[in-house]
Amino acid sequence: MNTYALITGSSRGIGRAIAERLAKEGYTVLINYHSHPEAAEATKAAIEAAGGQAELLPFDVTDGAAIEAALSAWDAAHEGEHISVLVNNAGIRRDGLLVFMNEEDWHDVLRTTTEGFYYTTHHVLPGMLRARKGRIVNIASVSGVCGIPGQANYSAAKAALIGATKALSKEVAARKVTVNAVAPGFIATDMTADLDEAELKKTIPAGRFGTPEEVAALVSFLCSDEAAYITGQVINIAGGMG
Ligand code: NDP
Repeated sequence: MNTYALITGSSRGIGRAIAERLAKEGYTVLINYHSHPEAAEATKAAIEAAGGQAELLPFDVTDGAAIEAALSAWDAAHEGEHISVLVNNAGIRRDGLLVFMNEEDWHDVLRTTTEGFYYTTHHVLPGMLRARKGRIVNIASVSGVCGIPGQANYSAAKAALIGATKALSKEVAARKVTVNAVAPGFIATDMTADLDEAELKKTIPAGRFGTPEEVAALVSFLCSDEAAYITGQVINIAGGMG
């Protein structure tokens, strides 16, 4: 029987690294994406070339009806099975000082993180509760822990995700479902490609950006049986920032 892990936003970046890592550990990974099907196909091909198993599961994490349709179709095609691991990873950045920030940039960033968490978790959680086992890992950010100027929307979104992590962890702990948040600092992906890495590195005690694979290793541990007693936590992975 397969053990399924759904990673939202796993066509690229940190999500892709998490999908590759969990696939290596024997999960059948469900690769969610929205706007880059070719990147999702490439992730799937890389996983299969390494001997792993993957399925594509496209939906927009801000679209509740699309999530319900996609996950209900998945349930119907996988009778008797459920998703054991959920990584809420999809996220976007639209930086700017609040005084200049338009409504769209505020709402889009908030919705991608908070509605993505709500709709996906709301659908997947009952299966974990019935199985009396599950792992939910939410990809937050040091921005949501400390607040970063120019990121009021992003800091608010990630802080909300951290609050939801803590509340939900207490609701489901007795059913052996753990819920944790990971708070990365600067990680080298498309999301940070436009930043001045040389300048920012000076503000990071470790003196470098992290890699998606380093974040994936932490997520993988939180998903393991050995991490059964860790829940409701926010774990920074930020080279000493925050
Ligand atoms: P990337 O921009 O490299 O990748 C983002 C991923 O999210 C893509 O796979 C994209 O899929 C997906 N995505 C975006 N919007 C949606 C949507 N509406 N529905 C479904 N999927 C969506 O970002 P990173 O890998 O860098 O970031 C991943 C997570 O880590 C994010 O939550 C981010 O906030 C967080 N993070 C990143 C840090 C960094 O320094 N990189 C630091 C701290 C946190 P597609 O393009 O196919 O639609």
